[in-house]
Amino acid sequence: MAEVDRELLLDCAICPNMCRCECPVDQEWGREASSPSGKARLAHLLLEGHLEWDSDLLEVLSTCLGCRGCQLLCPFPELDLAEELLLARTEACPADLTLSAAVPYLNNLKKYGSPYGSRPVDVNYREAEANPEVLYFVNCTSQANHPRSLQVALELLDAAGVTYKVLDHYCCGYPAQIWGDLKLARQLAEENVARMAQSGASLLLTDCPECWHTFTARYPAWGYQPELPVVDTATFFLDLVRQERLKPGRLEEISTVTYHDPCIWARVAEKCAAPRELLQQIPGLVLHEARPARRETRCCGGGAMFQLTFPERSAAIARQRLGELPPSDMLVTSCPFCRENLQVGGGKVLDLVELLGRAML
Ligand code: SF4
Ligand code: SF4
Repeated sequence: MAEVDRELLLDCAICPNMCRCECPVDQEWGREASSPSGKARLAHLLLEGHLEWDSDLLEVLSTCLGCRGCQLLCPFPELDLAEELLLARTEACPADLTLSAAVPYLNNLKKYGSPYGSRPVDVNYREAEANPEVLYFVNCTSQANHPRSLQVALELLDAAGVTYKVLDHYCCGYPAQIWGDLKLARQLAEENVARMAQSGASLLLTDCPECWHTFTARYPAWGYQPELPVVDTATFFLDLVRQERLKPGRLEEISTVTYHDPCIWARVAEKCAAPRELLQQIPGLVLHEARPARRETRCCGGGAMFQLTFPERSAAIARQRLGELPPSDMLVTSCPFCRENLQVGGGKVLDLVELLGRAML
């Protein structure tokens, strides 16, 4: 199991907070304790036993979106502060202390396998009987709030002649780790990895960067290794278009789009090219680039399930991000949390795959 790197955390704790201008939480909360180095100092003092855990300190340490904006200006290339803070919370926080705002969602996760509770998948699809090309992982946020994006993705697979099965039983487990229940996170990982192995599929397809990050980095750290390669929807559908298995046409009501890079796709997975190339495959569509964009993108405020646990702050961060995006007919992104949060902030937003669907269906 991965453990907190105490030396790196101390480097951050005594750093003059050089990255705080890139931290959306610091900008929104405006408190030293919530700044990147401020959180590292608190985590260090808690881990070394100089402070006692309590609900206020847990709340401050939970104010990290996991966006990795701080890495843009950090002099320690090996430091991933978001991950160190997450490890500090899951490793050292007493088991009976939970972020109060997270309690109902954590209870949902325990009972239903989704933080949103019991919501049946409101989607029609035809699964392959055996050995499908693709196992499509249904993320909890789209399942609960944007089933249309799932429906479109599956219709596109049908249209391209791709055989698939759907994995929609449990969330990936990341929210459980965020809220301090590593045992539950590992249970969900074990279930998901077993179902992946049983599926007979050749690859796992996901439209959620946090699920992708969890399958590819957290599962191995928790002791589970998915046997399937994990592929993002932008890359997968771009390949289908290149192979002419999908042929997008001109969109009737959308001629310009702005693309918002989700933090994890851009900074962790380094997947900035595929979504843009996919947009360029739609005839006549003009892309207005955001500033900042690609690796320098700014978080929408929806990371680390903030829209559930810090909804007002999360929406305020979304409005800040919306304020720096150029106008266009539609804002497009490729993350269910970004889509959800930018919409809550007042944006007119579509998932990239849903836009492709509009150009096809
Ligand atoms: S993340 Fe890097 S730049 Fe930011 S406070 Fe920590 S050590 Fe300094
Ligand atoms: S990961 Fe994002 S929210 Fe967390 S400390 Fe870094 S910049 Fe701030």
